[in-house]
Amino acid sequence: MISGIKIYKGDGTLKQEINKEEALQLYNDANREAWDLSPTERKRWNSLITEDPTPYISSGNGNRNGIKPWIKRSHKWNKQYKLNCVICKKEIIRANSQAKTCSNECKNTHIRNMRKERRS
Ligand SMILES: [Zn+2]
Repeated sequence: MISGIKIYKGDGTLKQEINKEEALQLYNDANREAWDLSPTERKRWNSLITEDPTPYISSGNGNRNGIKPWIKRSHKWNKQYKLNCVICKKEIIRANSQAKTCSNECKNTHIRNMRKERRS
């Protein structure tokens, strides 16, 4: 419900009075863009809302203290990087673009090599 709007100057004197009809005009759907969220803002707002109607995930013992519903889980393992192991040159696919080695053995070798480099 919108009633008349009074606009005051900084010194408190009445500058302009918008009557109810004008106010409704200002806020009607035709002028919606002027006060509604912009598409970008709307998208951002929607992205803050989880789509899951049951956001709590049971931890198994009956307590609904799993994932906090207000945290949007945006981390997805859908990114995969084709990399080459720095030790054996084998092709590896990792979710992490910083991955350097294919296995723990290669990782240990790599760490040893790095230490050697640092010493020399
Ligand atoms: Zn390797």
